[in-house]
Amino acid sequence: MKNNKWMFKRVLVSVLLVLSAVSGVSAVWAQYPDKPVTLVVPFAAGGPSDKIARDLAEALRKPLGQTVIVDNTAGAGGTIGAARVARAKADGYTLLVHHIGLATAPALYKKLPYDTLKDFEYLGLVNEAPSVLIGRTTLAANNLAELRKWIADSGGRVNLANAGVGSASHLCGLMLQSALKSKMVAVPYKGTAPAMTDLIGGQVDLMCEQATNAVPQIEGKKVKVYGVSSKERLSLPSLAQTPTLAEAGLADFNVTVWHGVYAPRGTPPEVLARLNAALREALKDPDLIKRQEALGLHLVTDARLSAAGHKAYVQAEMARWGKVIKDSGETAE
Ligand code: ASP
Repeated sequence: MKNNKWMFKRVLVSVLLVLSAVSGVSAVWAQYPDKPVTLVVPFAAGGPSDKIARDLAEALRKPLGQTVIVDNTAGAGGTIGAARVARAKADGYTLLVHHIGLATAPALYKKLPYDTLKDFEYLGLVNEAPSVLIGRTTLAANNLAELRKWIADSGGRVNLANAGVGSASHLCGLMLQSALKSKMVAVPYKGTAPAMTDLIGGQVDLMCEQATNAVPQIEGKKVKVYGVSSKERLSLPSLAQTPTLAEAGLADFNVTVWHGVYAPRGTPPEVLARLNAALREALKDPDLIKRQEALGLHLVTDARLSAAGHKAYVQAEMARWGKVIKDSGETAE
């Protein structure tokens, strides 16, 4: 009898300890975020990924009630920044804003320092951006037909800038070379912002770049535009006359770049729910909508803004691009 009482007391104490620990933990997460949140961008400042991350950081400030900082960890086509977040503390204070490269890198890199599907929590897809094929202003070609001829006559010496293996510009460049059946010299940068500086300066010839970064330069006549990479023309007045690459003769050419937000695997569900709610709120921000639309981009408001929808979409993109990349024979160390 005495023994039973003793056992009962011990069990009761253990249950109370567990309960207080659990409620203590959720009380900690209930205060999230109580310090600034960092968005890691795996490309150079001033490029398309940086732009959406900075606009998002601004729009997230109110729903999160905290400052949101953008930190550029550029290099190796976005894989260095992605690996940094995969290894970060899973506490909701270090997040990743990454694009289509998260889905294409597994097919390109022989060894990747993270697993796209296992090492991240998916917070939602945020935007979609068409790309455009642009060239230095000193190129004689004024349309895609003239450009094709110039490329064909160049004997493989055309310089095609990109933001590293696995970047959107690299992927679009692979598609371009395969559609034209012409090899070009890929020139990798840490992002398309520094690549754009060189394109404007005439150090490289061509680049496939997201509208985000390209539209202001096209409108300022700092680069020439040859075609739009997505299915539809851009609805911007300045680009209404620019044909899609498919219309201009490159059958089925369709590259649309998307960006999503990720947390390290194991981030507490309460924090993920808080972040997803804040993201949904942020994407309704009229200022963010206006800035995105002015560049011909779309914010995502469909099922891909949920964890399950986002992950399913990335899986589908991995399958789609995995095949294209395999057929191209392209690999990276
Ligand atoms: N997202 C890259 C950047 O922001 C560009 C790219 O992937 O092509 O520089």
